[in-house]
Amino acid sequence: GPAAENFRRHHEITVSGNNVPHPFISFESTGLPFEILQELKSAGFASPTPIQAQSWPIALQSRDIVAVAKTGSGKTLGYLIPGFIHIKHCRKNSRMGPTVLVLSPTRELATQIQDEAEKFGKSSRLSCTCLYGGAPKGPQLRDLDRGADIVVATPGRLNDILEMKRVSLSQVSYLVLDEADRMLDMGFEPQIRKIVKEIPARRQTLMYTATWPKEVRKIASDLLVNPVQVNIGNVD
Ligand code: ADP
Ligand code: MG
Repeated sequence: GPAAENFRRHHEITVSGNNVPHPFISFESTGLPFEILQELKSAGFASPTPIQAQSWPIALQSRDIVAVAKTGSGKTLGYLIPGFIHIKHCRKNSRMGPTVLVLSPTRELATQIQDEAEKFGKSSRLSCTCLYGGAPKGPQLRDLDRGADIVVATPGRLNDILEMKRVSLSQVSYLVLDEADRMLDMGFEPQIRKIVKEIPARRQTLMYTATWPKEVRKIASDLLVNPVQVNIGNVD
């Protein structure tokens, strides 16, 4: 309706895809579980950021999504919150392997994502493990053996651990490529493609990126199925 259109115009949100749902203009209108709403409020957040407002309802419909928005726009919770809901619906045993996999370019970013997943997923009793290079594998393998609903990983380290056959991605049904443009700039495309081969095709795939160059468009068209695209601000 017109309220949704005004909200999109005001926040420079553009969308493409079939039957794109209206943005959530407030936390209350999301219908998210009480414990998650409480976490968002106690973090001091007043309302969803534009990327959250528009990507949450799309992701909650289990659709693939490409979200293009600059750094600092709240993309992490944009994919984590629908990921929490996805996990609740799956009710898998985390010892069989993670349900949600987030690929991230660097150790620093991966640990920030893990911190947000633990903070906002605590009340839902979700577990998260982080895998990154430049640190011994032992503790990461022990964390994996304990079972995790969510794994956040850099592509290089995850690929090493896959080659050791110490993790199975057969239960992953929600895959996030965060900072896809940076992962490609860093040369991670071969590792990403090897990792994706280990994940069942019946999955939801979400790609979050700050820029939208040709290389990112190509991997999006290879890995995503009929995605809805959400842009915040100008996208070249
Ligand atoms: P991006 O991945 O787009 O660079 P982040 O997900 O790292 O952005 O979020 C940037 C900052 O905004 C973080 O400190 C995060 O906790 C905060 N943030 C996330 N969602 C909201 C919100 N709805 N309202 C206010 N701040 C938020
Ligand atoms: Mg980010």
